[in-house]
Amino acid sequence: MRIRRLKLSGFKSFVEPSELRIEPGLTGVVGPNGCGKSNLLEAIRWVMGEGSPKSLRGGGMDDVIFAGTATRPPRDFAEVSILIERNRTDDGGLSGESEVTRRIERGAGSAYRLDGRDVRAKDVSLLFADAATGAHSPALVSQGKVGSIIAAKPTERRLLLEEAAGISGLHARRKDAEQKLRATETNLTRLAELLSDQE
Ligand code: ATP
Repeated sequence: MRIRRLKLSGFKSFVEPSELRIEPGLTGVVGPNGCGKSNLLEAIRWVMGEGSPKSLRGGGMDDVIFAGTATRPPRDFAEVSILIERNRTDDGGLSGESEVTRRIERGAGSAYRLDGRDVRAKDVSLLFADAATGAHSPALVSQGKVGSIIAAKPTERRLLLEEAAGISGLHARRKDAEQKLRATETNLTRLAELLSDQE
């Protein structure tokens, strides 16, 4: 999977609609302190499903919305889209381009779209997990991350390896399957009870 384009509107310091094309090869973002370089990386993590405001340097998720300045009023929403190029191996499906969008309205939470269709947060996180990437991908190295990996517990490091190996999506599906299995077992037990009552 490759990110081809990033679009932001009202996200942190990117108040005006902004578009960045990410060409093949190495991309560098340079600029003075506080110009928004880290905000760009956070926008990518956010649209991939980041659920922790703290890891986006905020107190609540609404803090990703442009908060206003002395000369500009705050915004009521933030929206980030990424255009991704999928490889055939990402999920066993067809290759091609897809656009993932996340939008948050102040006080009303956020919603996702995949190629214009409303989808669940879980669908988006599975899409990225199957391609061995996502909001917690070790490929997205934010400030302080290297130190935290050195200090991490073995179980936390294992999660990083599982994400890199692209198997974290399988864990989520296994949990779903186990829940369905338990519900089916309960139904079977109930059915056996009803049958024995009728005999
Ligand atoms: P450095 O080089 O120092 O790490 P940087 O280029 O990575 O800086 P960022 O940390 O991405 O800069 O951006 C910080 C700027 O974003 C600050 O000016 C901050 O006021 C602004 N900012 C963060 N959240 C919001 C928000 N919700 N609304 C408006 N501006 C915001």
